[in-house]
Amino acid sequence: MNQTTSQDATQATFDSLGASLDLMARLTRHIAAQRDGLRAGARADWGHAGSAAATMKALREITDQAFSEGEYAHVACLACGGSYAAASDATGDHAAHRAYEQARLAIEAR
Ligand SMILES: [Zn+2]
Repeated sequence: MNQTTSQDATQATFDSLGASLDLMARLTRHIAAQRDGLRAGARADWGHAGSAAATMKALREITDQAFSEGEYAHVACLACGGSYAAASDATGDHAAHRAYEQARLAIEAR
């Protein structure tokens, strides 16, 4: 990667992270206000419940990706000690490693 491309990527990352912080702050205020309203006695209907569940699901997706959890969890490759996403097929060298490991286990099971 040349210097300009690296600087462009760094700036783009910095900008996206800043925008993400702004969005999270806005969303945090919104969610807190909704909870405060319920605590104060406001009633929710099933539309509110569905929206809250959809928000939680979207945030879970984001945090799973950020922290390599859920479908983004990584598993250790038994052959080389590397790792790959548990929910996806092993790729590259790990695919061969996993095929070898599965064949070895099948032979051992005989
Ligand atoms: Zn491997």
